[in-house]
Amino acid sequence: MKMRKLLALGLSLAMAVSLCGTMAFAEEETEVETEAETEAPLVITEDIQEIIDRGVLRVGVKNAVEGFGYQDTLTGEYSGMEIDIANLIAEELGVDVEFTTVTAATRTELLDSGDIDCVIATFTITDERRESWDFSTPYYTDHVTVLVKDSSEITDLEGLLDKTVGVSSGSTSARSLVEAMIEAGVIDGEGYDAETFDAALWTDGVSFRQYDDYPAISTALESDEIDAFCVDKSILAIYKTEGRSYIDAEFAPQEYGVATTKDSGFSAYVDTLINRWLNDGTIDGFIEEYALD
Ligand code: GLU
Repeated sequence: MKMRKLLALGLSLAMAVSLCGTMAFAEEETEVETEAETEAPLVITEDIQEIIDRGVLRVGVKNAVEGFGYQDTLTGEYSGMEIDIANLIAEELGVDVEFTTVTAATRTELLDSGDIDCVIATFTITDERRESWDFSTPYYTDHVTVLVKDSSEITDLEGLLDKTVGVSSGSTSARSLVEAMIEAGVIDGEGYDAETFDAALWTDGVSFRQYDDYPAISTALESDEIDAFCVDKSILAIYKTEGRSYIDAEFAPQEYGVATTKDSGFSAYVDTLINRWLNDGTIDGFIEEYALD
């Protein structure tokens, strides 16, 4: 009797265990299914229909950021992960793609004027920018650093004290550097206010010169008009020629998103696609292909 009871208990335990196993498995399966099913629908709104009718998606991209947006000066061909993303969006829409080279200073004007439909150009998502434009989920995260001439003997944030740094107008760079210098205790940051910060007016421990594009900053570094060149590492890479080095500091994570017109149907459409490509490994594939990690 005792034996039979034990056996029965054992059996029901085994059943319970296997049932649990099945349930867990079933749950896993459901989760996978739900994930696949929860992709937001790709709704063709009026603004998207306009792109389809036009037959061309117009995208603002960089032309000198290797692995992101790079234009071959001989062939005129663009390449990089941001170019690939643009091509995939166009493919999904069933249209051609037309690239316009943008800079940090021109990209939002071109989007606002309707000359381009979106910006895929190392464009960092910030709360302030979100007030004016929509950004997709980030597809890449970079960091800011500083490029100097070896002859300057600047090697870290401390070495930048009282120096003049070249940055691009319309970029996050100056603010990021000031915040990093405050955090590292190089400057006290008294008088720093993230909301009102203006690179042109900042003189506390470091000052800035703003340029319209990166080649101009590189030239200014060469001619000692500035002591250092600060921007995202991905952008600096092409200017790190012989006799130039990064200082020993990387700061201010820069999450890149596709920027579109605020509250447009196209914003939701693009975000759905970016999420799809983040989930299915397409974006990771680009990061690997262009050796961006
Ligand atoms: N990614 C930074 C920004 O959006 C640097 C500027 C640039 O992308 O050229 O401000």
